[in-house]
Amino acid sequence: MFDVVVVGSLNLDLVVSAERIPSPGETVTGTGYHEYPGGKGLNQAVAAARAGARVAMVGAVGDDGAGETLRAVLTDDGIDASGVATVGGVPTGRASITVDVEAENSIVVVPGTNGHVSPAVVLPSARVLLLQLEIPLPSVVSVARRAADDGVLVVLNPAPAVDLPDDLLAACSVVVPNEHEVELIGGVDAVVEQGVRTVIVTRGAEGVSIHSSEGRLDQPAFPVDPVDTTGAGDAFCGALGARLAAGDDVAAAVAFAAAAGALATTRHGAVPSLPRRSDIDAVLGPS
Ligand code: ADP
Repeated sequence: MFDVVVVGSLNLDLVVSAERIPSPGETVTGTGYHEYPGGKGLNQAVAAARAGARVAMVGAVGDDGAGETLRAVLTDDGIDASGVATVGGVPTGRASITVDVEAENSIVVVPGTNGHVSPAVVLPSARVLLLQLEIPLPSVVSVARRAADDGVLVVLNPAPAVDLPDDLLAACSVVVPNEHEVELIGGVDAVVEQGVRTVIVTRGAEGVSIHSSEGRLDQPAFPVDPVDTTGAGDAFCGALGARLAAGDDVAAAVAFAAAAGALATTRHGAVPSLPRRSDIDAVLGPS
């Protein structure tokens, strides 16, 4: 039995630095190139594992070097990758990112094998199922419904935001949008009316608001000096899933997750910035 199973995306991010982003038809000379593991599914699985959970990842990669790299990232953090399928003839998901000197970026995401995660995937048994929206929606709905029927706590981070079908919301206990996504999914009240017990809105440096039928509770952000906010939301969701699986109540799990999100902003990148349990506990202080 795992604490957290993540069914979601795995990407290799290809990041080119250049003086400026080229216009259509133009070629510019780049100044740097890096490859980073990414995809919200992979990021959140790593975040949950570093927060102390036993984690399994379910998804798909290609029969290529990027797929090997991403499997190695999972196993390095002790994540069970036996549910990550290898799909022949389709490239591993990638994001091609150009960043200019002003830190402005332009991004092309190729879902590749992430588009091949089937609604019939086998779900390892776990306390919490953690989902995002970078794999086909019918697959998200299928795993959410099956897990909810088995009594698993289903946590959905609706990113990137789309209109959420009623049968998906009916299967979710916790929905975790950021302040932009919450508008795109129709607002807190509409989501609570669909039977979701708790909506947790992450608000960057403004902290977090927790909404349920009993009203609203606020968790302030932990004060930090941010250098790169990439990955804060994924750190938050992974840490939240880990603590809910450990049996924390929502308020305690949110405080822990907010500390994880704050720490993630203090280091560059997504996966490298995801904090470990001991660092998160140090921010929380003695309880
Ligand atoms: P996303 O990356 O999905 O937009 P947020 O930016 O809302 O997510 O970040 C998730 C959580 O991480 C926030 O709710 C907050 O608790 C924490 N966080 C993010 N940015 C900061 C910051 N500048 N200072 C302190 N905490 C932060």
